[in-house]
Amino acid sequence: MIRIGLGRDLHRMAQGRRFLLGGVELPSDKGELGHSDGDVLAHAITDALLGAAALADIGELFPPSAPEWKDADSLELLKGAWQKVREEGWRLVNLDCVVSAEKPKLLPYREAIRASLSSALGVETGAVFVKGKTSEGLGPVGSGEAVEALAVCLLERTDTPKDSA
Ligand code: MG
Repeated sequence: MIRIGLGRDLHRMAQGRRFLLGGVELPSDKGELGHSDGDVLAHAITDALLGAAALADIGELFPPSAPEWKDADSLELLKGAWQKVREEGWRLVNLDCVVSAEKPKLLPYREAIRASLSSALGVETGAVFVKGKTSEGLGPVGSGEAVEALAVCLLERTDTPKDSA
């Protein structure tokens, strides 16, 4: 059995915050505002994986009202969610993502982001892809007020639930 999952997130950009995408910090005068570290890509991927397994959404697992998730490392949240999905007997076939941000250009950081995400998920780099898009100056993303990420994943049922990746 295979299952598809979709995740989407958007964060406001603010001065004095780190701009994190998939656990990689990009040079920027602004970064994502959030209760956690704000890593918009990690959040979208977390929701895609959880959704494919019909388990929960990121806000249920890691409520923004909970003090324990204040400034949380979103890659650790992703790992925690992925562990729950794997325990249900799912394997990641592939993950594809789009990040919409006006700047900086994502391409120079793409391989680092792919490496970071594939390491966190325990999969080959070839199973993870990320693309950067601008919004042509339009809307909150185009003005640099916000950054958005979309993620789609394919999960496949394994015969060995609870195995370690
Ligand atoms: Mg978020």
